[in-house]
Amino acid sequence: MLIRDGRVVDVDGDRVADVRIGRDGKIAEVGPSLVPLDGEDVVDAAGQLVVPGGVDAHTHLHLPLGAVSASDDFPTGTAAAAIGGTTTLIEYVTAHRGERPLDALATWERQAEGAAIDYGFHMTFTEAVGEGAVADCVERGVTSFKLYMAYPETLMVDDDVIVDVLRAAAKHGGLVTVHAENGGAIEALRREALAAGHTGVINHARTRPAVLEAEAVTHLATLVERTESRAYVVHLSSAPALAAIRQAHDRGIHLLAETCPQYLHLDVGRLAGDDGEQFVCTPPLRDPWHAEELWHGLASGWIHTVATDHCPFTTEDREQGLRGRPEGWADFTEIPGGLPGIETRMTLVWEGVRAGKITAADWVRLCAEAPAQTFGLWPAKGSLRVGADADVVVWDPERRQSLDAEALHMNTDHSPYAGMVATGWPSLVLSRGRPVARAGVFVGEPAWGRFVARTPSSSG
Ligand code: MN
Repeated sequence: MLIRDGRVVDVDGDRVADVRIGRDGKIAEVGPSLVPLDGEDVVDAAGQLVVPGGVDAHTHLHLPLGAVSASDDFPTGTAAAAIGGTTTLIEYVTAHRGERPLDALATWERQAEGAAIDYGFHMTFTEAVGEGAVADCVERGVTSFKLYMAYPETLMVDDDVIVDVLRAAAKHGGLVTVHAENGGAIEALRREALAAGHTGVINHARTRPAVLEAEAVTHLATLVERTESRAYVVHLSSAPALAAIRQAHDRGIHLLAETCPQYLHLDVGRLAGDDGEQFVCTPPLRDPWHAEELWHGLASGWIHTVATDHCPFTTEDREQGLRGRPEGWADFTEIPGGLPGIETRMTLVWEGVRAGKITAADWVRLCAEAPAQTFGLWPAKGSLRVGADADVVVWDPERRQSLDAEALHMNTDHSPYAGMVATGWPSLVLSRGRPVARAGVFVGEPAWGRFVARTPSSSG
């Protein structure tokens, strides 16, 4: 295939060029005025961008949660991702307390068999593990880990575990991702709210204030500094937490940060609406001014990547809550948290390009390049260099598409962006040279996607 006359944006610049894709599903040639070969498919990309396929480094396509479950699975979630311009995702596996990490990994491997795009896994530890557990994962190409500083009852680990895993990951070339919120303090605020009879949705946000996110980021930074390791903060949501990242950078600490489109486009006011429960996610949506700070953080490089934390629920599951009450959840602590986003990430970040907040090159860096580099997918993913996988998006900056649930393909009946029309969508999406989506229609097949074993990083 030859994609002609597009505006090619990747790590090597922003220029008009042609992109040739070989029969082996890899980028064969990039340059001006390439001549079509006999029998070659020619795609006219004039007026469109040609960019590396998106890399979404934070998804939950398999996530049982109390009485309910995230409503996408690998076939539905990866098809929606492809339509939106994402061609690789990294899914979080959770090894629950008492469960062997490799058993958890085997569970997710089975779930992922129907993936339509390429995928990798992060491993979540919820209790102390030996160094061997880290080494076992790295050996299998699972080179990143997750630790929670929140949810004491189920997921949170103490500082000794954080220190041990940071050290073990550094030694074996892995990267630790962290949910940074002060879980103990939040727990106390939640108990206090319930005791006072404050059971409504808004209390989800009130009991998880931004300052407790910032405090956890600073705390983590200190542990990273002491262990001479590095870490990656997932779903950074607030201005104080961003300030804590900047302070860590100033101290020379290797602390990366990810944010998500929901923190750029939605605010806490949504929790007060009739469908407030549909906007419960963690960290919670913030006051509107935080989003401007986050956009600034994206433009200036303080925030490294944009991922989704994709974790949709159906309205029915959201209403019944984590305890599965037919009469509906009893208080805010029973509402399952998470938002759909795997399909809308690229266009929602593109909105920032349209508004002049970031450049097209920033958009490619945040959504594809940086996550690929950070998580050991580079240079096969996240670039259009010769020899890279031909995961390619032809991006039509003028294509308009409603963000109503019925117009999208994620397996949920509620869209947090309902009523919005987004301008800028893929006209063509390739996964290793094979079309997987055309102008809003999935044209791939389940099980086309492959597990990508990621490479350990040498920088400890
Ligand atoms: Mn998550």
